[in-house]
Amino acid sequence: MRGEAPARGHRTRLSLTTMRERVCSKVGCAREAVTTLTYDYRDQMAALGPLGAANDPHAHDLCAIHTDRLSVPQGWTVVRHATLVS
Ligand SMILES: [Zn+2]
Repeated sequence: MRGEAPARGHRTRLSLTTMRERVCSKVGCAREAVTTLTYDYRDQMAALGPLGAANDPHAHDLCAIHTDRLSVPQGWTVVRHATLVS
C-alpha cells in the first residue's frame, strides 16, 4: 500500500523507455500516466488498460492515483485489465 506521496520538485525521468512522456489528463495533475481510460458511451463502460494510442479522442491517460480513484457515472461499468501493474 502506497500513500499519496507529495511530489514537489521531484520529477522522475524515464529517458530509457521508448514511450513518450505521458502525463495524467486530470486537471492540475502532472503525474506520469500509467493507464489509459477509454469510455464506451454505447455500452456505458469505462475500460482501464495499459497506455494506449495517444490520439484516441475517447481515451484519457491517468496516473496511478487517479486510476485508483476513478469514479464513473451511476450505471456505468469499470473494466480493469488484468495486465495492469499494481
Ligand atoms: Zn492524476
